[in-house]
Amino acid sequence: MTTLFISDLHLSPDNEALIQLTIEFLSTQTKDIDALYLLGDVFNTWLGDDIVAVEFEPLITQLQQLHQAGIKTFLMVGNRDFMMGKHFAERCGCQLIAEPTVIDLYGIKTLLIHGDSLCTDDVSYQRYRRKTRNMFLQWCFLHLPVRYRQGISDKIKQKSRQQKQYKSSMIMDVNQLEVSRIMQQYGVQYLIHGHTHRPAIHLFTIADKPAYRIVLGDWDNNISFLKCNDHHFVLSDHRISESDSVLRIS
Ligand code: MN
Repeated sequence: MTTLFISDLHLSPDNEALIQLTIEFLSTQTKDIDALYLLGDVFNTWLGDDIVAVEFEPLITQLQQLHQAGIKTFLMVGNRDFMMGKHFAERCGCQLIAEPTVIDLYGIKTLLIHGDSLCTDDVSYQRYRRKTRNMFLQWCFLHLPVRYRQGISDKIKQKSRQQKQYKSSMIMDVNQLEVSRIMQQYGVQYLIHGHTHRPAIHLFTIADKPAYRIVLGDWDNNISFLKCNDHHFVLSDHRISESDSVLRIS
């Protein structure tokens, strides 16, 4: 029994090599895993389930194959692909899960989240996030012609790139108080998220009990993933040493 977690692949139609790497990786997992969680920003942009790039079709087929092999596959949106909907998830044989979601991971109550909502020091981003998660605005956006959606998306990306140059790396990371707050709200000692591109296993305390925050790595043309079973959690990422990558739970 093994569960696989990945996030922040940032797939785009113009990087077919990365799409191919993803497909190859997933195809080798079929015998190993019984569940797969994709925790957001699998795609670099998402303009609506009605305009899926043809370059993504082989990946959709691969996800369908995992589903057909009996592997439970779950999809969560991130801050880049937050417009991804149920329709697309169903096409891939995946279940679209809410953010955040609490799961029972081999007896461990675990909170899953993409991670951008934890970066509360980035006030201007959180303001933008609230606006873009408005259901009415999303409905309007999805009813615009494709070229308008593309135009709006390009403008937002351009602005975000400009702003990032002036933001300190502290601001772009999670706020520890917010981490503790949400973990207490959901009554968990374990949190798994991506987004920050800082893969690590963090140990701290909540109400004098050990608490764990496991951060998934972005792909950046390299495979990065977390595998969990009832003995240990293993974070595989080229940026972290082997000794820092294992969390024993029994
Ligand atoms: Mn993200």
